[in-house]
Amino acid sequence: MSAKDNLHAFFYPESVAIIGASASPGKVGHTIVSNMIGAGYKGDIYPVNPKATEIEGLTVVNDIADLPRGLDLGVISVPRQFVIPSIEALAAIGAKSAIVITAGFKEVGKEGYHLEQEIIALCDKHGMALLGPNCLGMMNTATGVNASFAAGHPTPGSIAFFSQSGALCVAILDWALGENIGFSKFISLGNKAVLDEADMLEYLNKDEDTKVILGYVENVEHGEAFLKAARKTCQNKPVIMIKSGTTMAGAKAASSHTGAIAGSDQAYTAAFDQSGVIRVGDVASLFNLAQAFSNQPLPKGPNLVVVTNSGGPGILTADTADRSKLTMAALSQKTIQKLQEFLPSYAAFYNPVDIIGDADAKRYRQTLDVVGDDPMVHSIMVLLTPTATVEIEKTAEAVIRTARKCGKPVFACFMGKTRVKKARTMLMEAGIPCYSFPEPAVRAIETMYEYYLWKHRPEQKYAKIQGDKEAALKVIREHELRNESEIVEFEAQEVLKAYGLPTPKTVLARSSDEAVAAAEEMGYPVVLKIASPHISHKSDVGGVKVNLQNAGEVMANFKDITARAQRMRQGAYIAGCLVQEMAPPGVKEVIIGFKRDEQFGPMLMFGLGGIYVEIMKDISFKLAPLSRQDAFEIVREIKSYMLLKGLKGEPPVNFTALEDIILTMSQLAIDLPQVWEAEFNPVLVNHERAIVADVRMTLHLKDS
Ligand code: ADP
Ligand code: MG
Repeated sequence: MSAKDNLHAFFYPESVAIIGASASPGKVGHTIVSNMIGAGYKGDIYPVNPKATEIEGLTVVNDIADLPRGLDLGVISVPRQFVIPSIEALAAIGAKSAIVITAGFKEVGKEGYHLEQEIIALCDKHGMALLGPNCLGMMNTATGVNASFAAGHPTPGSIAFFSQSGALCVAILDWALGENIGFSKFISLGNKAVLDEADMLEYLNKDEDTKVILGYVENVEHGEAFLKAARKTCQNKPVIMIKSGTTMAGAKAASSHTGAIAGSDQAYTAAFDQSGVIRVGDVASLFNLAQAFSNQPLPKGPNLVVVTNSGGPGILTADTADRSKLTMAALSQKTIQKLQEFLPSYAAFYNPVDIIGDADAKRYRQTLDVVGDDPMVHSIMVLLTPTATVEIEKTAEAVIRTARKCGKPVFACFMGKTRVKKARTMLMEAGIPCYSFPEPAVRAIETMYEYYLWKHRPEQKYAKIQGDKEAALKVIREHELRNESEIVEFEAQEVLKAYGLPTPKTVLARSSDEAVAAAEEMGYPVVLKIASPHISHKSDVGGVKVNLQNAGEVMANFKDITARAQRMRQGAYIAGCLVQEMAPPGVKEVIIGFKRDEQFGPMLMFGLGGIYVEIMKDISFKLAPLSRQDAFEIVREIKSYMLLKGLKGEPPVNFTALEDIILTMSQLAIDLPQVWEAEFNPVLVNHERAIVADVRMTLHLKDS
């Protein structure tokens, strides 16, 4: 039995004990009891308190040992020093799950951290599903469970919400009550000692009461488990999440808050993206999207039609749509003819369809019916400006009718506030998202469309590349023996060869004569680069000379480079210089690298290389291992993609060659866990080929 196996008992308990139940109103131990009763729970409730006899009309159990064996859920709200004994006592009666409300664990420092480790060990041993510590509790509206000390009960609905912040739970619960938003499950994760977001995703994925899953996290500790659960769940239902602690200031606040150590933000973005999780920045977007997703079908294509009674907002919407992944649908001739039959001649029959300020509900209804029938239309947005003549509520009814029968997502944007208030409530209650302004409406439709695309993307297969792993490991072992963490360009050549990476012809010359001989053999122009295991940033010591045209230049520069390096890095061993084939003019420099993220493992990066990388920071990220599709996307996600595609009649670079190098880098990351960071900078690419013109790897030495 593991914690996961007991999740059903946790969410649908038939018996609940409240350890630390109290008879005094206002105390947490009292609120939990009254919340359980108030939520209409039909199972058995056992208040546990060594001294009391009756709480809220329920008979008190004085000792955990006297509780029935196989108890489903124990809610623990006792002073910190009694928490572990309580868990032990619950384990002794075979309790299946627990919630620890009590705080004072990992979030307060070392001592608390060790206590929390004890809790984890206990739960592992007994397979107990434990929520918290340091949390608000859990609610399941389907069975009337409110095992929390929150004020108020959520109304039933199809949204599940979990949060690492208890305070946010409190605020959202209160706000949702005001907004008439219902929940299936509501979970405060607290310190996530045992149950974490991955367990929630896995369980909620199968939960029939839940259509949309929302989450707020400050960190993810078990990256692999999260990715696995998220990928699987998103294939089935939408998961929308906020990850806070993205800025440095935020990360600091997070670690003093729940003891969370924020991982790098790019890794989270990549992890969410690749597993299909929709990431939003604020609570309002979380719920805006939740309502759209829980009530509307997904748009099956990008084409949006806008029906409006005013010009300006219609154009505004069209502009926003143009900037998004959506397109304004081109209506068919048949549709336009049908519209012409009943719309006034001065209406605009193209998209946005402007049915003019004097439009009544009937005109809206007729128009919506016609455009909804057009097979080119994938989603519909109804814009209403509350002019004096418009029939606001009747129009809302017309929108609701259309939405029910057309099978396409319908969104409303009834502009303003007071005059459209009633209509908005009608729409929302009928499951039609209604916004005050067009932008968030367009964003919601776009997000749903992106999710549709993600769901229907071709199956992702990790593109395995066969390299000579042993040859690469040999280079690594030599460095480990010498206790050197940097593998510089001239030493990494073997690794490049072992994985069949395309490189410029490169020869290590130990003397100026050898350099000249190599250059003659190679043909001019050539590049000379300092070769020293102790110099990894060669240009910093003037160690790279490009475009050398003849033997004289090679000779002079060899001497110059080696002498200068020796002077600038005293004690560095100088092996000589690399003589390298010079890439033709007009090649573009890109960087391909990876670094290991603590939570999510190796993360590939791609961007414009050379001088641009520092200045532009125009880099995209994906977690390894990459699929072909991932490699395709990573090169197209950077802003300067246009530069690679070619400007002013320039041919595009050889993208396939770049993608091959990216996939090989991904393979290196998987094959060589000793390598902590690696980069090819630059990879030189033109329309014909791509070559790795510099490489640097950093090892993770065991005792450093
Ligand atoms: P480092 O990064 O250690 O300073 P590089 O090997 O990356 O040294 O070389 C510095 C720059 O020299 C590169 O960014 C690139 O602009 C240019 N360069 C290096 N090798 C070549 C080559 N084979 N062909 C053309 N240009 C090169
Ligand atoms: Mg370089």
